[in-house]
Amino acid sequence: MDGAVVTVAAPVFILLGPPGAGKGTQARMLQEAQGFVQLSTGDLLRAAVAAGTDAGKAAKAVMEAGGLVSDDIVIAILKDRLADDDCARGVILDGFPRTTGQAEALDDLLADSGQRINAAISLEVDDSAMVARISGRFTCGNCGEGYHDVNKPTRALGICDKCGSSHMKRRADDNAETVSQRLTEYHNQTAPLIAYYEGKGVLQSLDAMGEIDAIAATLSGMVKDAAT
Ligand code: ADP
Ligand code: ZN
Repeated sequence: MDGAVVTVAAPVFILLGPPGAGKGTQARMLQEAQGFVQLSTGDLLRAAVAAGTDAGKAAKAVMEAGGLVSDDIVIAILKDRLADDDCARGVILDGFPRTTGQAEALDDLLADSGQRINAAISLEVDDSAMVARISGRFTCGNCGEGYHDVNKPTRALGICDKCGSSHMKRRADDNAETVSQRLTEYHNQTAPLIAYYEGKGVLQSLDAMGEIDAIAATLSGMVKDAAT
């Protein structure tokens, strides 16, 4: 028994799906319900842009055009964040990996820390519905709760149900032209990851066209089953 330490590796989940599939909404719900940490590279990049870091300066124009930020930048940002203590609770990756290069870098990072991917869960949606979903969405600038003009309006107009703030935000890249570019990038660069994770035996899929709460219930069951 000299110094044997039993460490329990923190679970890692990946949410796959096109822009508008609901990855962010579902990752937030999982964070609240099960305590895993939502890691959104989109949020991390928007924070870098707002803070005016070198990475943020390099990413800004690419994001506004609906392109993908370079693997080097995104991997560095994610690696940094994964090293934070709270990530030991387990993480839900939302918007990462988005290219095969990122997926391979993630495999290396996890191998270094003795972790594995518990499940890569693909949110299956109809592309044709994504432009409307994204064009109507907004979030609370105070607590981050997500809303949609039609699918999930606030109970009182312009007031966050959760925290009462009236500071609502719409993303600069949530307009019709940029959305179609983001969908194109998804099909060219990210959709191949479905086969990548299927090959590794960790892929699961769920129909994400229904009600947010019903999808959350199914997803929650999948995550619980794959967490250990
Ligand atoms: P969505 O999934 O709705 O498009 P995100 O917030 O995940 O929104 O991403 C917004 C933008 O941030 C993307 O269009 C892209 O420019 C950039 N981005 C986010 N994650 C990545 C990533 N893993 N690799 C490259 N670019 C990324
Ligand atoms: Zn709020």
